[in-house]
Amino acid sequence: LAAVRRSAPWKGALQASGRPFPWLNAVQAFGLASLIQCGWVAPSGVSAEMVLRVTRPEAAEVLTVAKGKTFVIGVVEPPTASLECNGARCDVSADGAFIGYAPFEALGAPVRQGTNWCDVAFDFVARADGESVTNRVWAISPRSPSAALVPELAFDPPRPLRVLGDAWLGVRKGGIGRMLFASEGAVLSAISTGKDGWRVRLRGEEEAVVPSEAGELCGERERASPAWILESDESFGVNAWRAQRAGGGITNTRPCYWGFNLAVDGDQATVIPRPPPRAWAREEAAERPLRGLRVCLDPGHHPDRGAVGPRGLEERDSNLRLARALAARLRADGAKVSFTREDDPLPLRERHRRIRDLDPDVVLSLHNNSVGDNQDPREKHGTQTFWCHPWSKDLAEKMHAAIVGAMGTTDMGCIRRDLYLPRYPGCPTVLLEPEYLILPEMEKKFRDDAWVANLAEAIARGLREFAAARQGAREAVAPAR
Ligand SMILES: [Zn+2]
Repeated sequence: LAAVRRSAPWKGALQASGRPFPWLNAVQAFGLASLIQCGWVAPSGVSAEMVLRVTRPEAAEVLTVAKGKTFVIGVVEPPTASLECNGARCDVSADGAFIGYAPFEALGAPVRQGTNWCDVAFDFVARADGESVTNRVWAISPRSPSAALVPELAFDPPRPLRVLGDAWLGVRKGGIGRMLFASEGAVLSAISTGKDGWRVRLRGEEEAVVPSEAGELCGERERASPAWILESDESFGVNAWRAQRAGGGITNTRPCYWGFNLAVDGDQATVIPRPPPRAWAREEAAERPLRGLRVCLDPGHHPDRGAVGPRGLEERDSNLRLARALAARLRADGAKVSFTREDDPLPLRERHRRIRDLDPDVVLSLHNNSVGDNQDPREKHGTQTFWCHPWSKDLAEKMHAAIVGAMGTTDMGCIRRDLYLPRYPGCPTVLLEPEYLILPEMEKKFRDDAWVANLAEAIARGLREFAAARQGAREAVAPAR
């Protein structure tokens, strides 16, 4: 985005006008820039090779500017150029990639750019060899009229919302480890809708989030089938299951050690605990420690790009690359590896269903980190690992320790969080964020096959340690299938 190569055809026009160019409209027409556009101030005597490309903020990104600063990343050529954004210096690495923590230049009044109102500007100035090039990138903040295109719309009184298809819902309040399952056709009480989905009220002040595409408003007289809240504790068991509405019931509430499946039939739900997998719990497992273990790899993102590095490496591609390296490593240890997606895209909200169909023993979701605004990844970056259910905790901790230990990354926490993918209840499921892709030096490492192979080996070691520990504990926790 906003790549402006000062090749000869533009040069005359640049110098002639010193204003935003008509060709920007063509850029828009190609869908490359809907929220952000760049204008040029004519530089004098510039060489044809200077390039200033901004990869963040990216097209269609709505920036959060709570404290008036955000990160800008991109690439400048030649890399010997100095770079400023809104007066703040941006370090340029040896390959021209840059990341800068830039103050916002809030405009007095929003400026209309195409169909959007932009109220924030980033002014980049690159200088090299006595020449300079200036690039203004427009963006919108939450205060912009454009940010209100998808308003949070409150319903007072609440409106009935029908759930389209069985779904695990995000817990908005009331703590992690509780789970809300709504079966197809369940009617919930929607209190608002926004870009995150439908907010629904359960009992009292409890709230949950139904993804936008998983619900639709319906009439008052729709039949209300039950939704259930499931609460689990730290002792690897589901300790309480409640029918949200009268008339529903839950059967078979045996403790869960490896995860569970839920079968719904009318107003009845049956909890089916999963025993640990049997295949690898054999003596010959010493030779091939993951023998028979069914591992599902989930390369994060795609169709969305995920994080993007300064030179344009997309997280969805680096995640797939890591997944393929890891698959080879795990297969050598005897694991049966499946993927949620490879080259064909699979939206996030369809991934639980895909995983359920694959019926794995373990799920590893592979990601790499971007950064929220107002947090400086140059000061602190490293490895984060996320889990949700008690039966995933041990796997997450072993993975996390293996990556931090082998790669020498900073320990940024093995964290329990109600994220969509780790919410999958069927087996130990973790989400890995080994490093920050948006840093120039890390983007470089993710392009390095040897480094990626080392990372894959670290993850495989974490899985071997988990498998070895669970093999020993297997007899103690549950009967084999
Ligand atoms: Zn990601």
